[in-house]
Amino acid sequence: MIKDVIKTIDEIAIKDPNRIVYDYLGETNTYGDLKKRSDAYAAKLKKMSIPEKAPVMIWGGQNFEMIASFLGAVKAGHAYIPIASYSNSERLTMIQEVSQAPLVIAVDELPIEMKNIEVLNASEVEDGDFNIAEDNYVSGDDNFYIIFTSGTTGKPKGVQISHNNLLSFVNWELEDFNLPEHPSFLAQAPYSFDLSVMSLYPALTSGGKLVVLPHDVTQNLGQLFKTMPNLDFNVWVSTPSFAEMSFLDPTFNGEHHKNLTHFLFCGEELSHKTAQVLKNKFPDSHIYNTYGPTETTVAVTSVEIDNDILNKYDRLPIGVAKKDTKVTIDTSKGEDKDNKQGEVLIQGPSVSKGYLNNPEKTEAAFFKNPNDQYSTYRTGDLGFLDGDMLFYRGRIDFQVKFNGYRIELEEINFYLAKNPLVRYGVVAPRYNKDHKVQQLVAVVELAEDVREKYSDAELTKKLREDLSRDIMPYMLPQRFIYRENMPISQNGKVDIKQVIKEVNNA
Ligand code: AMP
Repeated sequence: MIKDVIKTIDEIAIKDPNRIVYDYLGETNTYGDLKKRSDAYAAKLKKMSIPEKAPVMIWGGQNFEMIASFLGAVKAGHAYIPIASYSNSERLTMIQEVSQAPLVIAVDELPIEMKNIEVLNASEVEDGDFNIAEDNYVSGDDNFYIIFTSGTTGKPKGVQISHNNLLSFVNWELEDFNLPEHPSFLAQAPYSFDLSVMSLYPALTSGGKLVVLPHDVTQNLGQLFKTMPNLDFNVWVSTPSFAEMSFLDPTFNGEHHKNLTHFLFCGEELSHKTAQVLKNKFPDSHIYNTYGPTETTVAVTSVEIDNDILNKYDRLPIGVAKKDTKVTIDTSKGEDKDNKQGEVLIQGPSVSKGYLNNPEKTEAAFFKNPNDQYSTYRTGDLGFLDGDMLFYRGRIDFQVKFNGYRIELEEINFYLAKNPLVRYGVVAPRYNKDHKVQQLVAVVELAEDVREKYSDAELTKKLREDLSRDIMPYMLPQRFIYRENMPISQNGKVDIKQVIKEVNNA
């Protein structure tokens, strides 16, 4: 069991400096490089007059400088906020506003000139012989990283993850998954998603390696299928959606990827079909379905999907809680009392202290009773327990997973409704029979007189263009349907549930 994330990584670097830690499409770095570079970042941050413990934003892709700057920040006592450099500038400024970060580290070039914030370019961080005092390191309940997720009011929410939260998660992954010694992990998820943490810190604290598959490669099937067969790793970490994409590559099987022994899935429902196809392609591998929201640090339940489980269930379980964590079902809102189905509640040492600078949302989702040692998070997930095995049955709100991305539909609705062309606008997910979202459909009632001025194609183009300024590309609806007389519920608002029903019955 490790006791400290940063010190454990340092110890490996001191003992084994030449061990490879990062492989970015053949360009490699060692643990020695990681220590040197993260110390350089820490020294530079210490020299700047940043308020103690203030979080720093880090803008970039997936190269080695990213993880060096993350570690540099926490060595200097600052939590980091990773922001993928394919995000739009609106998101960058929104995160600045919410987080009040005094500094942004630009690993990649910033897309705009930023105001009221110091900018540190990676190139300004010079190597040297630095001795960083360990007392400065982020520890205990202080924030280690803050990851922003989609928010219902158009503003993203910053989930605060402390060193203790991370420690609970990392120890579980290192102990409960039977991973090989010095595991090499596929590092595919951009660092702004907490799925990346499933590869990152378990690798770094076990003398393992990260084999990076950058975002621009995964966005282009041709490039992906050219790159993937040449990557050598033994632990696969991804959403099921990403694995499904890889099924199209004929070399994606156990014969070709001989060292690939473990699959860790998280982030969305793993369908029976996907697990079965994978088991056929990699018969000797261990496939784990894990579940958990960013708010409870990556994942808190897991189950190995072996042939017994495949034979027993049509809809796969999402697992048993890690030892230090309690999962309960709250049926008080009457979701489906007869089937003991209700909202999944998670309590344990990896539960976040809440959303950064957002007491209202924090209070709505987290609670701690007087005698509780740990906080509880209300997940918004609908589920039930069979013994200690948890099963997932969808959401009780309008959050969805689309291609593995977490999206609050209300965030898109917020911007759609703001558009002067729109009277009412609602985005509905269209599901397939495996309960997976296939398409986001925007259902729009237009503002007065708009109909006569534009064709449907012109409207769709305009709405998509306007939306893309405010929301992430993966949130953009694929289809726009224009209708009159949107269904209105008793409270005078658009009846979103009815719209979703209609889209799925169409
Ligand atoms: P995120 O914060 O992006 O990790 O998203 C968390 C949400 O993804 C959860 O609250 C669930 O709705 C969904 N989710 C995560 N893992 C699974 C899983 N194994 N099966 C079904 N849904 C999942």
